Amino acid sequence: MKPLLVNQTENRIVLTPQEVLQTYFGYDAFREHQQDVIERLVAGSDAFVLMPTGSGKSLCYQIPAVIRKGVGVVISPLIALMHDQVAGLRENGIRAEYLNSSLSADDAARVEEKVRSAQTDILYVAPERLFTPRCRRLLDDMNIALFAIDEAHCVSQWGHDFRPEYLRIADVTRQFPKVPRVAMTATADDVTRREILRKLELTEARQFISSFDRPNICYRVRLKDNGKRQLRGFIRDEHAGETGIVYCRTRRRVEEVALWLEEQGINAVAYHAGLAPEKRLTAQKRFAREEGIVVVATIAFGLGIDRPDVRFVAHFDIPMSMEAYYQETGRAGRDGEPADAWMIYSLGDVVAARQMLMRSEGDETFKLIQQRKLDALLGYCETMACRRQVLLRYFGEVRDEACGNCGTCRSGGADAWDGTVAAQKALSAVYRTGQRFGAQYLIKVLLGQEDERMQRFGHDRIKTFGVGGELTAKEWRSVFRQLIALGFLTVEMDRRAGFVLTDKSWPVLRGEQDVQFRKDAAPKKSKREKRPEMDLDPTASDLWEHLRKLRHEIAQGLEVPAYVIFHDKTLKEMAVQRPATREDLLQVSGVGETKADRYGDQFITAITDWESRSA
Ligand code: ADP
Ligand code: ZN
Repeated sequence: MKPLLVNQTENRIVLTPQEVLQTYFGYDAFREHQQDVIERLVAGSDAFVLMPTGSGKSLCYQIPAVIRKGVGVVISPLIALMHDQVAGLRENGIRAEYLNSSLSADDAARVEEKVRSAQTDILYVAPERLFTPRCRRLLDDMNIALFAIDEAHCVSQWGHDFRPEYLRIADVTRQFPKVPRVAMTATADDVTRREILRKLELTEARQFISSFDRPNICYRVRLKDNGKRQLRGFIRDEHAGETGIVYCRTRRRVEEVALWLEEQGINAVAYHAGLAPEKRLTAQKRFAREEGIVVVATIAFGLGIDRPDVRFVAHFDIPMSMEAYYQETGRAGRDGEPADAWMIYSLGDVVAARQMLMRSEGDETFKLIQQRKLDALLGYCETMACRRQVLLRYFGEVRDEACGNCGTCRSGGADAWDGTVAAQKALSAVYRTGQRFGAQYLIKVLLGQEDERMQRFGHDRIKTFGVGGELTAKEWRSVFRQLIALGFLTVEMDRRAGFVLTDKSWPVLRGEQDVQFRKDAAPKKSKREKRPEMDLDPTASDLWEHLRKLRHEIAQGLEVPAYVIFHDKTLKEMAVQRPATREDLLQVSGVGETKADRYGDQFITAITDWESRSA
């Protein structure tokens, strides 16, 4: 490694950020904001970084920690990840350590010694550890390069990731006014952002905020018709042998779906808060280590998933808000490679979600807000526009162009039909039956299928009885679903899920407003949608499998996840470029000096062997 800059006063060699990026991490160029944040921290000023998952926030503190004198202290609530994070840094030749409750007293003492004697670049600390007298002594004795506060939204009492210890972080950092600080998060609306800056005493910090867009994620929503089979088809056809997360609403459903997938030969494991702690731990460990594992989970499986190579997030049930949907789908494709956010939903789900809201704790205002959030999500599900446009608009970003990488864009846009008359009939059926029935009953009325109950109520004699023969029961379900999503109908909150009219219903009933419906896509057999960026040609893909095996063996030997050795993207590039020398290998993105030294020979040999065998 050749140093460019020598810091005279400290009498030590200093690399530029660009050099650290290349020599340690093996990357050519910085991404948006990274360089600015790094330069600011190197210069000793504070920063606040709000960037989406996978955009490269970690480098923003890791590089200045390497460059500045002393140890970079990273405060992170994700104890379960520290081991792997540290292993990853060490593989890149960076001296990293962590302190949390999983260490024995002896090991902790050893770490402290390394930190005191300046043999460490980066130290990860659990927040609760920070306030112990012992840690305070350590901080006083050591040279601190910077404080990085990860998952900074944990200071927010209103968020679901709230950590009380985060409120006390400023008490510690205040003692070191000369040490630059950086706070980072991927989830913060305006209110939360201000709360973070205030509570961490970072109001003077320069703010770096980037687009929320995750261009490598393809957003797809389908109608649920046979959920399990659709899920199996999606996994088998498009993600066989790959890692993913399937979110379900209830614990029971989690177990049922996990079991079913296993029976179908898919490597799946269940995770929810009701499982015994050791079962949960096993599931987490398997997710962290295994290749091609599918975790079926409730939302309890969340904070702390930072495996970069999650290829899909599937929603078996709809989440409760756009925020939840965006956060959950955001766990896919952190490595920047193509990934799928796939969701299926039905009218029944929508009703179930509402009922769940109804039963939830909280006052009326709270419920009303939650209901609006759910409505926004339904609107997203039913949109005829580019899904990414709708998603980003919700978070305040306006895009003029359709994205080209969502279900709608890829299928050449959704078909619409004029549903004005159908909407009038459906709304009229709701009104004339007294606004207390659900879809099933109303559809029978529309189709003129009387039964004993209907006769008792006299609903076989109302004007709307039997006027809906032009559509099938399934099509009427689609009409009701979309009427709810578009706000023309709502679900009664205090009775048994009967539909009621809204303010928006009347203009439709009076013929003053037209309604457009989205044509439900025919439930075709899910076929692999073309992903040219990702797919290797058969030869390269054969070599990639070969290299994957080698990576797997090395990772197992070291007891670290495979991506710690090389990311998929790096391995794929190798399979295409087939480096033959160390110099060639260093050209591959994600190969720094340390990794080239450690694994270069093994991978180059593997490639040459493979070439001679397939020649
Ligand atoms: P975040 O913390 O924002 O979720 P990470 O810091 O984990 O994201 O980075 C996501 C991925 O992007 C990692 O695999 C990381 O190595 C990679 N990465 C970060 N910066 C760059 C860069 N400048 N060039 C190439 N890859 C990068
Ligand atoms: Zn699109």
